[in-house]
Amino acid sequence: MLTRPTAVPATLTEEMAYGLMCVGCRRDVRDGRADEVAVGEDRGWTLVACRGACAAGVCGDPDGWADKPGGLPSLTDRIDRWEDDGDS
Ligand SMILES: [Zn+2]
Repeated sequence: MLTRPTAVPATLTEEMAYGLMCVGCRRDVRDGRADEVAVGEDRGWTLVACRGACAAGVCGDPDGWADKPGGLPSLTDRIDRWEDDGDS
């Protein structure tokens, strides 16, 4: 069963649900810093937060949810999924 971090906002933006926006500070992770880590899931989607304070605030570990099955999909995969869904 999943495991929704308690600190994740009840209402996620679509970008958060697709792992394209930090659920802590709302930074768009497509900005090239590539320091986001998986912090949880929501309905099968991987949620991300900036490594460090944001991740710690959401899931209690600054390095994120290290045990996430399958790990964090690449940013390219997440963007592809976002764009595919947007077209349908
Ligand atoms: Zn952040």
